[in-house]
Amino acid sequence: MKNTKELLARYGLNASKSLGQNFLCDGDALESIVNSADIDEKPVLEIGPGLGELTVALAKRASCVVAVEIDQRMTEVLRDRLAPYPNTEVIYADFLRVKLDEIYARLGERPFHVVANLPYYITTPISTRLVTSPLPIEGMCLMVQAEAAERFSAPPRARVYGHLSVMTQARYNVETVLRLSPSSYYPRPDVDSAVITLKSRGRVLPNNLDGLVRAAFAGRRKTLVNTLSSAGYDKSDIAAALSQLNIREDVRAEAICVEEFMLLANALKK
Ligand code: SAM
Repeated sequence: MKNTKELLARYGLNASKSLGQNFLCDGDALESIVNSADIDEKPVLEIGPGLGELTVALAKRASCVVAVEIDQRMTEVLRDRLAPYPNTEVIYADFLRVKLDEIYARLGERPFHVVANLPYYITTPISTRLVTSPLPIEGMCLMVQAEAAERFSAPPRARVYGHLSVMTQARYNVETVLRLSPSSYYPRPDVDSAVITLKSRGRVLPNNLDGLVRAAFAGRRKTLVNTLSSAGYDKSDIAAALSQLNIREDVRAEAICVEEFMLLANALKK
């Protein structure tokens, strides 16, 4: 593993706090991440390659790596480091704005995996975009802040249970595979991190699930009947669906489990 401080100095770079640049500098953690990612001979999307440390490790095992980096200052270091790996490609763009179909085309329009040490400031929007994408993502290995990791696997009634938890668990089995202290990064973040894996359950989701779950959690304190009717669902249809599922009519979104959300979405399909 290259020395992060030396690399930054050699290319005249400094870590940008506003872009969430905490570079992984722990060789053992890097190895466990690549092992947990289960990417041998598979196409991989990496978000935020930064100085390319993880990208190089992925390129050695994956069939190809398409990496999306917002920071154009990384062009030179990434070009030099990835030169020996013709199976890599870097797209300089904001992942939240990039067209996912374009990435899919570059990955050969095959089921693919996602690996990322996510920038902390946009963990939720990036993860939400990934778990709600209709593209065939077979698995993900994500490094996130420890507290953010809880949101992916939170059960009903937990403080952090919400749209991301439901949409993740509907489609993936979630596991926390590693916890990392701030000393695994340069510069050190303020909090611990965790590596989580998401493995596809191979299920087809009701196409109204995302919108329904989003609407349900739009008012955490309101009853589901109220939040869903504000989103355009008919009150009597909601009441009928709840009664069919033996769920009380005054229920709130936080008490509904993933399977119940799936059933509700099917029952309320227009
Ligand atoms: N992969 C490197 C590593 O593990 O050391 C860097 C990880 S660093 C936590 C996050 C990376 O995401 C940075 O390179 C940052 O520039 C990039 N980034 C931040 N916002 C982004 C966005 N909206 N789209 C794509 N990349 C982004």
